[in-house]
Amino acid sequence: MRRSFAFALLVLALPALLGAQTGQAGQAEIRPGVFRTPEFPAPSILDYHPRSTLIVPEHLVPRAKYPVIDLHGHPPTLVLPEIVNGMVASMDSLNLQIMINASGSSGQRLTQQIAGVRAAGKADRFAFLTTLNLRNVGPGSGKTIAAQLEADITAGAVGIGEISKSFGISITKADGTRLKLDDPELDIVWQTAARLKIPVFIHVADPAEFWSPLDFTNERWLELALFPDRRYQDRAITPSFEELMAERDRLFARHPNTTWIIAHLGWHAQDLTRLGKLFDRFPNLYSEVGAVLYDLGRQPRAANKFFTTYQDRILFGKDSWQPVEYPYYWRVFETEDEYFDYYRGYHAFWKMYGMGLPDAVLQKLYFRNALKIIPNLPRAAFPK
Ligand SMILES: [Zn+2]
Repeated sequence: MRRSFAFALLVLALPALLGAQTGQAGQAEIRPGVFRTPEFPAPSILDYHPRSTLIVPEHLVPRAKYPVIDLHGHPPTLVLPEIVNGMVASMDSLNLQIMINASGSSGQRLTQQIAGVRAAGKADRFAFLTTLNLRNVGPGSGKTIAAQLEADITAGAVGIGEISKSFGISITKADGTRLKLDDPELDIVWQTAARLKIPVFIHVADPAEFWSPLDFTNERWLELALFPDRRYQDRAITPSFEELMAERDRLFARHPNTTWIIAHLGWHAQDLTRLGKLFDRFPNLYSEVGAVLYDLGRQPRAANKFFTTYQDRILFGKDSWQPVEYPYYWRVFETEDEYFDYYRGYHAFWKMYGMGLPDAVLQKLYFRNALKIIPNLPRAAFPK
């Protein structure tokens, strides 16, 4: 009797339990207005690729309209001349004039790459950021890190970065606790960057949806189902998104003389009002557009207004080095094309629209802002 009662309870509760697990309770919201059951088995989101029947003008943009500086580059190691020359050939076809190697390197790895691009005769096409060793920070670490930073800048690095998202999410201190973004031990490092007048390129957190429940209303369901290491639902392991944002903002507030470049539009590209408030609050803050094109391309009018208002604060950056993907950026920024494909199906299952940025804004995004805040970049190839 007890057993069958428990069984009945389980049967009653099962849909709710499943719903909590898989989001099926939200199914009615996924397709509003669908009141009938399909006669055929529904395809999975991996299978369903409806062909667009929309016929509108198309303007593919294989080469950017102006020479571009990619602040957020992750090229292969630039030591061998054939690697360097192969990179430059691809960059030429895209009108990518300078790639800044944001896979920061320090010491010998840095000087070898600087020598590598010089030996290939391509020193005017690359610049290098240095990396910071933030592992096991304890008393006195700040001074050591700052000394290494100073040595790397003397050797030719033009900034710090990309500081990875593991700073904040997972890197621990010597005492085993999480290294917070605004840990005072590192103050001397950010002060040194300010004194040397070099930017700090920092990636904080990840898209907020990575912290949201993994159900069928999550915009990043597919990405989260594909990549276990992007699931941050467990507060025992990962601080909350807003906790990281608060630490980040306190860090910026403590160092108003340091030039900060926050990666990926600060993961606020889906909430440009929030990013605008951040820019208003911190005049020393810049950002870049790497890997968040999907959020700009779905709000072309709002994004155009935002890029116009904050035209002095946004730099071009791409993140992963996939030459075929750059023209999607050119097309979103330069054209007013409508309803075209994005390049990565697990970032976005929606289409892109062009922002049609005016030339003056485009030039700032593509190269002028980078030339303004990153020291010692070769200027000869850029319009006056
Ligand atoms: Zn990156």
